[in-house]
Amino acid sequence: MKIKTCKWYPVCPIKYFVDQGKLDPKWVEEYCLVENKNCVRYQMEENGEFHPENMLPNGDIQQDL
Ligand code: SF4
Repeated sequence: MKIKTCKWYPVCPIKYFVDQGKLDPKWVEEYCLVENKNCVRYQMEENGEFHPENMLPNGDIQQDL
């Protein structure tokens, strides 16, 4: 199986939050690095829908980000 990184990864804030130690690396491991299209951010991006920077891949809002 070929594993691809999400096409939004270079510009997605989730990567930066993980790099800064503000989010658990599990988010990039379980979504971004394996092109998980269940990511709510991904789906909204594809549909051109607004989504806040602090919305996690599962759609939860993380207030302290
Ligand atoms: S959070 Fe979602 S949209 Fe952003 S890079 Fe990861 S998988 Fe892609």
